[in-house]
Amino acid sequence: MTGRGLSQQPLTMFARVVLPLSRFDAFTYRVPSDLIGRLNPGAFVTVPFRRGTAIGVVAGVQPASDYQGKIKTITELRDEPAALPPDLWSTLEWISRYYGTPLGLVLKTALPLGFAEPGSSRQVQFVSITSSGEAALAAWTGRAPAQEALLSYLAQQELPSKVSGLSKVCSSPLAVCRRLEQRGWVALIQRAVDADPLAGLAPAPHDRVTLSAEQETLLSEINQARKRGGFAPFLLQGVTGSGKTEVYLQAAREVLAGGGSVLVLVPEISLTPQVATRFRAAFGTEVALWHSHLSRAERSWTWRELLRGRFSVVVGARSALFAPLHNLRLIVVDEEQEGSYKQEDPAPRYNARDAALMRGRLAGALVLLASATPSVESYYNGLIGRYSKLSLSERFDGAAYPLVRLVDLKVERQRSQNYNLVLSEPLVAGIELRLKRREQVILLQNIRGYAPLSGCNDCGFSAHCPNCAVPLSYHKHTGRLHCHYCGSSQQGPEACPECGSPHVYLYGVGTEQVEEVLQELFPQARVARMDADTTRRRGAHARILQAFAAGEVDILLGTQMIAKGLDFDRVTLVGVVNSDTGLTLPDFRAGERTFQLVYQVCGRSGRRRERPGEAIIQTNHPDDVAIKAAARLDAHRFYNQVLAERRELLYPPFSRLIRLLVLGRRQEPVWERARELRSRLTPAQKGITILGPASAPFERLRGQWRVHLLIKSDRALDPDGIRLHRHTFSSIPRSWLEGARGGVRLKIDVDPVNLL
Ligand SMILES: [Zn+2]
Ligand SMILES: [Zn+2]
Repeated sequence: MTGRGLSQQPLTMFARVVLPLSRFDAFTYRVPSDLIGRLNPGAFVTVPFRRGTAIGVVAGVQPASDYQGKIKTITELRDEPAALPPDLWSTLEWISRYYGTPLGLVLKTALPLGFAEPGSSRQVQFVSITSSGEAALAAWTGRAPAQEALLSYLAQQELPSKVSGLSKVCSSPLAVCRRLEQRGWVALIQRAVDADPLAGLAPAPHDRVTLSAEQETLLSEINQARKRGGFAPFLLQGVTGSGKTEVYLQAAREVLAGGGSVLVLVPEISLTPQVATRFRAAFGTEVALWHSHLSRAERSWTWRELLRGRFSVVVGARSALFAPLHNLRLIVVDEEQEGSYKQEDPAPRYNARDAALMRGRLAGALVLLASATPSVESYYNGLIGRYSKLSLSERFDGAAYPLVRLVDLKVERQRSQNYNLVLSEPLVAGIELRLKRREQVILLQNIRGYAPLSGCNDCGFSAHCPNCAVPLSYHKHTGRLHCHYCGSSQQGPEACPECGSPHVYLYGVGTEQVEEVLQELFPQARVARMDADTTRRRGAHARILQAFAAGEVDILLGTQMIAKGLDFDRVTLVGVVNSDTGLTLPDFRAGERTFQLVYQVCGRSGRRRERPGEAIIQTNHPDDVAIKAAARLDAHRFYNQVLAERRELLYPPFSRLIRLLVLGRRQEPVWERARELRSRLTPAQKGITILGPASAPFERLRGQWRVHLLIKSDRALDPDGIRLHRHTFSSIPRSWLEGARGGVRLKIDVDPVNLL
C-alpha cells in the first residue's frame, strides 16, 4: 500500500463498467491508483454493486465523469477469466448498437457461463490394452469369452477406447475391464471430455485428398487474400457435393500454420455432423466443439480454456461466434443462409453470419460464407462485388448430379383415384427399386406429427390452440392434438367439441403418417423417422444418423433436419413428399426457403461416382418458380428471378428492414402502444417507409397478442442502414427497449428473418 506521497500526481480515472443487466448505460467506478493504465476494454473486474459485489466488464476508461451520484471504487482486476480479445469486445459493442440491445444483455448471451465460477469437466473412463495384456491374449486358453473378446478388440485400437462404448463388444464392459485391470492386462484412464455430439459417429477419413482443379484455383485466391492480410469477405457458392468442406480444411491448415486461429460456424453440429467430424479428424485436440448440448460446466471449462489459448479451432453453432479465440484469422460460415444463425429470442436478435462479418472486419480476418443456396442478400452482395465470389460448379470426385423428376400430385391423384395420396406411383416404384438394390432412400416431409389440421365436417369447426391463433396438429403416438408453438395439448378428436358430430376429419400429412404409409407399402423396409419428436433426447440425432450410416436403416424420413450436410455413400434416391408445405406462408422469403430446402435435399442423392442418384419432387404447384428452379437445379435462374421481384417490391437486398413487434396479454394496450409507436415514427424521411401497425400473421402466440410495424429503408438512399437506425432509435424511448411497461413489451428486430 502506498501512502499519499507528495511527489505523486493525484491522478483520477473513471471506468465505465458493464454489468449483466438489461440497461443501456454502463456504471461508473473510480479506478484504484494501482490499476491506472492497466484497465483495457474487455477486462473483467470485481466491483461493489448494491449490497454485495458483481463481476463486470470494462467498457472504457476516462479522466472525467459527469455522473452526479456517489462513485464507488473498483475492487479488483480479475486474472481469471482474463480479458476478452479486443476484436470480440468490439463485436459485442457493435451488436449492442446495431441490434438496439443493452450491452449487459449482449454480454449475458455472449458469455454463457454468466459470470459464474467455472465448473469441472465431465470425467469419462477410457481403457487400453497393456503389453502383458497382449501377451495374455496371444496365449489365450479359451475360457472367459467376454474378456477375450474385449482384449482382442482393444488390441486392434490405436487410441484408448471409451468404456461405455464397448457394450457392443461385451455386456457390462466396465466390470470386465475392472477384472482385466486387476490382472494388469488393461489400463483404465479417467479423462475429462466435453459432451461430444459426434461420439459414436463413424470417424471421418483424415487422409488428405487430392483437390480438383476448381478447388485448387479457389484455394489459391483465398491464400492470396490471406497473404495480403486484413479483412476479406468471400462468398463460396458450390453445388451440393462439390467438396466445400475440403476447401475449409485446407484454408484452415494454412492459417494454423501461420499461427492464426480459425472459427467455423455450422447451423447445428448434431444435424450437420460431417463438417465437425472432418475438422476433428484433421486437427484433433486443437478443435473445441461449441454446441447446445454442452452442460454449464463443460461450457465454462471450454470457454476458459479458449481464453487461455488451449484451442486454435472452434467448430460450433450460432453462439460459437463469441468464442474468445485470440489472433483470429479465418471465419467460415457454413450454410450461411440458415435461419438458425438468427437469434429470435431473447435479445440481442443478432444474425451470427452478419456479426461474423463484423468480427472478421474488426479482427482483420478472412470470412468465408459458403452454401449451395446462399441467401438472396449474400448472392446479391457477391453479384455487386461486396464479397469476392468463389464458385464450385462440379461435384467432387466426378460424381454426377442427380436426375430430378417433378411429380404433379393433382395428376397423380386423378390417375390413382386416391384423394388421400401420400406417395405417388413414381416415388413408390423408386423406393422399391432401391430396397431391391440394397441402396438407401431419404424422404423429406417438412411437417411433423400425423396431420397438421383437424376439424368437423358438419359444422365447420376446426381445432385451434386456445393460447395461439394457430391450428393444432394431431400426433398419433400421443393420440392428442398438439400446438407446435406453445407446446400445449388436448384430447384427440372423437367427436366435434362444438356440435358433437362424430364426423371429424384429419387433413394434411405429417411425418408420422408418411411413416405409417411406408410400413404398409414396404413392411420389410427399415424406416427411421427424424423430427423434433424423435430427437428430443441428448444424442438421439447421432444415434439415428449412425444407424443410417451403418446400413441398419433403409429409409431415413424426416423434416428439414435431414436436408443439409448429410453425405452418405449409398443414398441414391431422395423423395420430397410435399414440396409446397412452406410456399403459402405470408412471408416474402417463403419462395426462397422452399427453393433452398428442395435443392439442398435433392443434393443428398448420388454423392458417389459409382452410384448415380435420382430425386423425385412431389408438388401441387409444378409451375411455381421456386419448385421449378429447384427441380432444374438451376440456382442462378432462381436468384435472378427473385432479385427482380425483390427490386420491384423494395424488399431486401434492395431495402433494409426493422420490425417492431408489440406483445401483451391484453389486446387493447398492445394496439395502443403500437399506434403510439407509429405516431412517434412519423414523419418519415425520404426513402423510409413505415408499414402498419397490423396484426402479425400469427396474431396470438402463447397467450400474447402480437401487433407489428415494419420500417423499410431504400438501400439506394441508405446503403449501410445508418439513416434507418438513426430514425428508428431516435424515435423510441430507450426505456421501452429495456423491459415490459404496463404489461406490454416491445421487441425490436433489425434485419428480421421471421415476419410471422
Ligand atoms: Zn361440429
Ligand atoms: Zn399454442
